[in-house]
Amino acid sequence: MFWAENAEEARRYITGIAEARGVHVVTKSKSMVAEEIQLTPAMEKIGIKVFETDLGEFIVQLRHEPPYHLVTPAMHLTRTDIAALFKEKLEGVDGDDPEQLVAAARRALRRAFFSSEMSITGANFLVADAGMVAITTNEGNAELGMNLSKIHLVLTGIEKIVPHLDDLAILWPVLATAGTGQPVTCYNTLVGGPRAPHETDGPDEFHVVLLDNGRSELLADVEQREVLNCIRCGACLNVCPIFRTVGGHTYGTTYQGPIGSVLTPHLRGLHEFQHLSYASSLCGACTDVCPVKIGLHHHLLHNRRNAVSAGERPWSERIGFKVWRWAMMGSRRFALLSRLALSALRLMYRCGAEGTRLDPLRAWTKARAAPDIPKHSFRHMWRRESAEK
Ligand code: SF4
Repeated sequence: MFWAENAEEARRYITGIAEARGVHVVTKSKSMVAEEIQLTPAMEKIGIKVFETDLGEFIVQLRHEPPYHLVTPAMHLTRTDIAALFKEKLEGVDGDDPEQLVAAARRALRRAFFSSEMSITGANFLVADAGMVAITTNEGNAELGMNLSKIHLVLTGIEKIVPHLDDLAILWPVLATAGTGQPVTCYNTLVGGPRAPHETDGPDEFHVVLLDNGRSELLADVEQREVLNCIRCGACLNVCPIFRTVGGHTYGTTYQGPIGSVLTPHLRGLHEFQHLSYASSLCGACTDVCPVKIGLHHHLLHNRRNAVSAGERPWSERIGFKVWRWAMMGSRRFALLSRLALSALRLMYRCGAEGTRLDPLRAWTKARAAPDIPKHSFRHMWRRESAEK
């Protein structure tokens, strides 16, 4: 068991084991923590060939892309896209029949499984009282990898520890139902160590790497520690209007969607990732759907507050809010500000219509039409209507 304080420590430990044992081929099942520490590039750098064995991960690996979604990494691709990709990269693919495409991936991966010396998996849960690792997959790829390789290495975050074996009776079905709508996932495996002397299958060596990488700090934050309860089911991504519009790659992070926007500033720094808290309409759909009841949209607001308190927001926003506050303190002020804002908006539209290089709305109007400006303000219309009655 190895506790890695950060990504660098985890990478160093894992590549160290692989180098010391002369590993050339690694099979890997889906692990967002491996994405978080950028494990595959680190292994490739020392000449190790890494095969993603989850079908979705295998597809995005062939495209040299990061996963698009926590649970379904290739959901942005159509059957035709995948057929074209397999035709270019794999042998014996003709047409886009899903069964044939799966068979082609299986043929390619079987060769990898049989030549693999080391298998790397994630862990859905670590069960404290049983001292076991709980892994759930729909393809049986993690199980095949760990049984055919001499070394099995589990890489996971420290937040995955649950106290009792009985907890899986709730957590496994909850994860399956919230993640893919299944009552339970196809393969549910508990692993407690390497192959025992009387056993025929299993690895000779077994390692568990626990990654902290900012999680302990989050645990110390009483207000936001519940974010660590996430079981990575992906349900909050599926209902998020922002994720559904911009897609997973736009976030530029390992964890996408609402949970990614909440978590990433804690793991990778508020300075660089505070903007993600604004990738939300705060509709609360993510909070409603979360099976472990994380108040996601409240945490997005907490992150926004933290960004403001840390002076991370631009000066224009600070001045804007000061002016808005001043205006909201009296109706005359508000009327004055409305008139000024309307005049400013008209001026901006004129600059745009005349094609001036200084058009301040060009970033917006490049891809969409600007809405019409009404002739009169709401206050003006209200007064006129009231006078006419
Ligand atoms: S935050 Fe909740 S809904 Fe989102 S992935 Fe985690 S457990 Fe699932």
